[in-house]
Amino acid sequence: MAEKTDCNNHKWIPLLGINKGKSVPTSLFTCLKCGDLKVGSQTIKISRFRLDMGELPINNVAGIKLIEAPTADQTVSGFIVGMTYGESIAKGDLLYFKSDGKVYKADANGVSTYPAMGLALATASAGSNNVLLRGVYRDDTRYAFTVGGVVYLSTTAGTETQTQPAATNDVIQVVGIATHADRIYFNPSADYITHV
Ligand SMILES: [Zn+2]
Repeated sequence: MAEKTDCNNHKWIPLLGINKGKSVPTSLFTCLKCGDLKVGSQTIKISRFRLDMGELPINNVAGIKLIEAPTADQTVSGFIVGMTYGESIAKGDLLYFKSDGKVYKADANGVSTYPAMGLALATASAGSNNVLLRGVYRDDTRYAFTVGGVVYLSTTAGTETQTQPAATNDVIQVVGIATHADRIYFNPSADYITHV
């Protein structure tokens, strides 16, 4: 199984259950393809590439390795949470967190529409949707970055730019670094300065 894909067609084999040629009841299985374990009807997502623990924390690891170069357009690797959209938002849009507890498109020359704190991972107008807090996002259509350059919140709502906003009262906030023409290391600064 590749590291970046999920196993959608498990081939379960029993780990226990044969005793001198006689089948005995068992509830412990493993998938020959991906290595997932299953106890009864419940799959335990654990293999050389993954460890899912439901809502439980991971308490003892040397590191959490993210994918630096997502292989497909509009894919991501990073810290992701579910947040409620307060307006129509497109995948890739930069978001700020509003006083009503919802996220909206961030805007460097709006009124209290910053700092950007998330990157939308779904196109929707309402409801809870995945938002990237920090990580790598790829978008082949949206981005045409100068590699290695800083990415700022732009003065067009929801968008990013590599040209620092320069008008009076524009907010200058670094939201990430371009690691490829089509990829951003999204790492939004909570600090911003206002252009005088
Ligand atoms: Zn499998």
